[in-house]
Amino acid sequence: MTPVIALVGRPNVGKSTLFNRLTRTRDALVADFPGLTRDRQYGQARFAEREYIVIDTAGIYGDEEGIDALMVEQSQQAIEEANVIFFMVDGRDGLTSTDIEIAEHLRRGEKNVVLLVNKIDGVDADQVMADFYQLGIPEMFGVAAAQGRGVSHVLDAALLPL
Ligand code: GDP
Ligand code: MG
Repeated sequence: MTPVIALVGRPNVGKSTLFNRLTRTRDALVADFPGLTRDRQYGQARFAEREYIVIDTAGIYGDEEGIDALMVEQSQQAIEEANVIFFMVDGRDGLTSTDIEIAEHLRRGEKNVVLLVNKIDGVDADQVMADFYQLGIPEMFGVAAAQGRGVSHVLDAALLPL
């Protein structure tokens, strides 16, 4: 089976930037991958001779209603289809309450979660990483999706066990 990675997180953290970088905008032929539906954006990608599928999602908004009400169907479906979740946060914004709610939601699922702290260009990476450490996701990586910085480390770690 081709491994599937879902990109989830708040809007504007850089999910689509990473998606485009990984797939170079080549859309997957969804029909070739049974079990995947068409209402999300799928891309086909390759890393170190390894084919995989990436799912981009529109993003999870947070407010006082709580994440279960707000976890949009699209993100939930992507999570269910994926072998591993790339949970992306914004290193410039720092940790937000919505990030904490998303982390709690993901922890209740059984899928492997990798935390991607994006936009570490131009910030104090060590300080920002320490901030997000309290989300309790041991696999965390600082990346700059716009420049591709750190991305190969993430793929190495994420695809190896799949
Ligand atoms: P999405 O809503 O999560 O899909 O986020 P987008 O991929 O649309 O990106 C939101 C904004 O963040 C855009 O203006 C991107 O150019 C910017 N962005 C994405 N990655 C980076 C990065 O690594 N560094 C910086 N500084 N900006 C980034
Ligand atoms: Mg997007």
